Amino acid sequence: MTDNFDLIVIGGGSGGLAHAQRAAEYGIKAATIESGPLGGTCVNVGCVPKKIMWYSAHHAHQAEHARDFGFDLSLKGHDWSILKVKRDAYVKRLNGIYASNLDKREVAYIAGHGSFVDAHTVAVGGQNYTADNIVIATGGYPIVPDIPGANLGITSDGFFELGQRPQKVAVLGSGYIAVEFAGVLNGLDSDTSVLVRKDGVLRSFDPMVREELAKAMLQSGIALETGVVPQALEQRDDGIYVLAEDGRAVGGFDAVIWAVGRAPNVDSLNAEAAGIEMDARGFIPTDDFQKTNVDNIFALGDVTGRDALTPVAIAAGRRLADRLYNGMTDRRLEYHTIPTVVFSHPPIGTVGMTEDEARAEHGDSVRIYETRFNPMMYAFSETKVQTAMKLIVVGDDERVIGCHLIGDGVDEMLQGFAVAIRMGATKQHFDDTVAIHPTSSEELVTLR
Ligand SMILES: Cc1cc2nc3c(=O)[nH]c(=O)nc-3n(C[C@H](O)[C@H](O)[C@H](O)COP(=O)(O)OP(=O)(O)OC[C@H]3O[C@@H](n4cnc5c(N)ncnc54)[C@H](O)[C@@H]3O)c2cc1C
Repeated sequence: MTDNFDLIVIGGGSGGLAHAQRAAEYGIKAATIESGPLGGTCVNVGCVPKKIMWYSAHHAHQAEHARDFGFDLSLKGHDWSILKVKRDAYVKRLNGIYASNLDKREVAYIAGHGSFVDAHTVAVGGQNYTADNIVIATGGYPIVPDIPGANLGITSDGFFELGQRPQKVAVLGSGYIAVEFAGVLNGLDSDTSVLVRKDGVLRSFDPMVREELAKAMLQSGIALETGVVPQALEQRDDGIYVLAEDGRAVGGFDAVIWAVGRAPNVDSLNAEAAGIEMDARGFIPTDDFQKTNVDNIFALGDVTGRDALTPVAIAAGRRLADRLYNGMTDRRLEYHTIPTVVFSHPPIGTVGMTEDEARAEHGDSVRIYETRFNPMMYAFSETKVQTAMKLIVVGDDERVIGCHLIGDGVDEMLQGFAVAIRMGATKQHFDDTVAIHPTSSEELVTLR
């Protein structure tokens, strides 16, 4: 038996759902195939549960500083298991909302694992489904290195399964997920180490935020070990040890978390049957309009290997539907000036080029405006968490091409500045904007 659709989307995560729903709004007969819970990585094992954990650690910090403002407070500890129950229920509710959204738009929801039969046919559990267009939005999964004992460690997926907070924990990796998890665990009182292969965290970020975050992590009690290239994990009497290439053994951990990158979900997609090309790592390249090398097959989101962020997958999905099914022939996502926030403690907000990138592209016409200060929030605190801001401008008109922020509140600060920068704002526009006082954000429009 074969079911026929205008559109089949493989993957019911951020990008796939956004595309299928927008297409259905244009009257397209669409189906979404999903092998796991609806909502994909972001909702189930990514942004959403992560942000809940971040808030929890954030409240612990706030409570700490509330004392400086006259509160007679004593925290009697934190119950991780209660938080997990609430968080899981919150996620479950979202899964239900996603299912009813599909229902409302009459998108067929096919539960199961999809694999290509040919360029117009996808099989799920022995049944074939055909469509004019097929969109691959299968996302990715966390990498576990192939070294002895690697399975003693857990991944980000496993982090969200932890029923209890580990007392002593190592996070292996230097990317945003590593620093976010470290911030949460440390904030909730775990003895936390971050072990990185090279010289520091967030290597693709602007040096200013890297430096400030490393300082803040150390100040908050996180141990940062550099140059640790893991060769094996080993279970000893007092916990798990990470054995490094240089002979170091760092350990005694209750939990070790791998946060060393993500790989695309293509292993059992049978993409070869449809003639779809992949790169050496399995990512599916597309042209500027999300089209793969096969005319009726498109790919979007993490599986394409570009800017692995939820709003990127959503924007690519919606714009593809606008173009294919609503006559907006040039509509596409431009993969530049994408703002992003790292939910570290303190958070980081960044958009546009780093200083190194700007200098490589624009040489001497780059100018930097920078400030570091202690926010008023820490006016009475012994330990102050610094805020730092950097604007990168280019040319005689000083067009802003990069904005890098670290400090309390910058996570909510960046979005509006990203709009301005996207519109081509210059330093003069920033200067001409009247400050909001007293805030941290006013420093960005008073930089000299
Ligand atoms: C710990 C963590 C924290 C994150 N935090 C943030 C954040 O704060 N902000 C942000 O913007 N992004 C964040 N991300 C990234 C974000 O989750 C992803 O960029 C986003 O989910 C990508 O969407 P997608 O549609 O490409 O894939 P996904 O959301 O991963 O969806 C893919 C779906 O396809 C399904 N699937 C795979 N293969 C098949 C198949 N063959 N058949 C059927 N179904 C299949 C999977 O089960 C999955 O549900 C985070 C990620 C992680 C891991």
